[in-house]
Amino acid sequence: MAFDLETSRRTFLKAVGGAVLISAPAAPQLVVPEPPGRKLGWAIVGLGRLAINQILPAFAKCEKSRVTALVSGDPDKAGKLAARYGVDPKNIYNYANYDSVRENPAVDVIYIALPNGMHAEYTIRGARAGKHILSEKPMANTPRDCEEMIDASRKAGRKLMVAYRVRYEPFNQAMIKLAGSRDLGAIKVIVSDHGFNIGDPAQWRLKKDLAGGGSLMDIGIYALQATRYITGEEPVEVNAMQYSTPGDPRFKEVEETVNFQLRYPSGVLAQCTSSYGYSGQNRYRVVTERGWFELEPATSYTNLKMRVGRAGSIEERTMPQIDHFAAEMDHFSDCIMNAKEPLTPGQEGLRDLRIMMAIYEAARSGRTVRLS
Ligand code: NDP
Repeated sequence: MAFDLETSRRTFLKAVGGAVLISAPAAPQLVVPEPPGRKLGWAIVGLGRLAINQILPAFAKCEKSRVTALVSGDPDKAGKLAARYGVDPKNIYNYANYDSVRENPAVDVIYIALPNGMHAEYTIRGARAGKHILSEKPMANTPRDCEEMIDASRKAGRKLMVAYRVRYEPFNQAMIKLAGSRDLGAIKVIVSDHGFNIGDPAQWRLKKDLAGGGSLMDIGIYALQATRYITGEEPVEVNAMQYSTPGDPRFKEVEETVNFQLRYPSGVLAQCTSSYGYSGQNRYRVVTERGWFELEPATSYTNLKMRVGRAGSIEERTMPQIDHFAAEMDHFSDCIMNAKEPLTPGQEGLRDLRIMMAIYEAARSGRTVRLS
């Protein structure tokens, strides 16, 4: 008889006749992964910090997505990254020959990781080349650009999703679930703060044409999004104030700080801050009739923390910290393969752009702006 641990344990138990049984701890269950299914081919456009540090490494954790092409203005960088990630060098494109991705069956989806002001053009060209598009946030510089992106994808019969990665990870999902359960009573107020101290004054984030705006477009959008996905409603009124430190060379074209307030139809009031002028603010707190729940950090790439306060006690909730980018890319691949609408389609990006324009208008005019 072949010796194995389980057989010898059974034999031992039989021998002692069940008189005194001190059972050994159960062996941990070995989880055998399913064989890989079909993976869609992805092209990454714009090989900057996000693409290099987050998107490309995330493919190792994807079940339904693989990188098959790169689009860059820097052929040396693209060649190096192609070698690193096993991309066929013939699938490297530049911004001029990008449209010829149309002839490449290895590319199903295009991920636009360019400066904000370039999202619209490369989404529209990509859709016209017959590909599905995942565009980084903010979707574009203006609502008009967003509408044109949606239209181009619709006409091409292809899907368009906006890369709101935190909608695809467990902590923000748990916050949404708790908000929806009304376990702590009705939501009264949401306080949502996002900001960081931006560096190099020469970077594209501080140029109006490439960024669309300042901190609000880049990081304040997370503060706004949180209030929308927690309430599940659309705001009806906006107030705002804006400030940029006089003489700071970083804020010649775009704003440093915007504080804004949103009124939601159910009566929820949201108080939000967005800044490029101070170090790390990354949190939101939902205040309800019988307590509160919060995330801090709320939208960082990892180490998110959720706390729930009720009846004088504070509970920390633990959940798996997953790769947000792998989850969002696999979600989109799954939607494409199974003809489903993505959770954050182009319309979702358009809604944020309309609200952000209303926030700028409220700050400029000093008046409450109503949203229909
Ligand atoms: P980077 O500046 O690091 O990279 C942008 C890349 O775009 C460049 O490396 C370059 O790639 C390409 N590019 C083409 N034209 C220009 C131009 N005129 N100026 C600058 N770059 C140009 O930006 P990020 O990677 O930080 O951001 C890219 C996008 O991703 C933005 O929309 C941003 O809002 C979003 N983002 C989203 C995050 C998230 O968590 N979801 C986090 C960070 C950013 P190449 O050299 O290959 O041509």
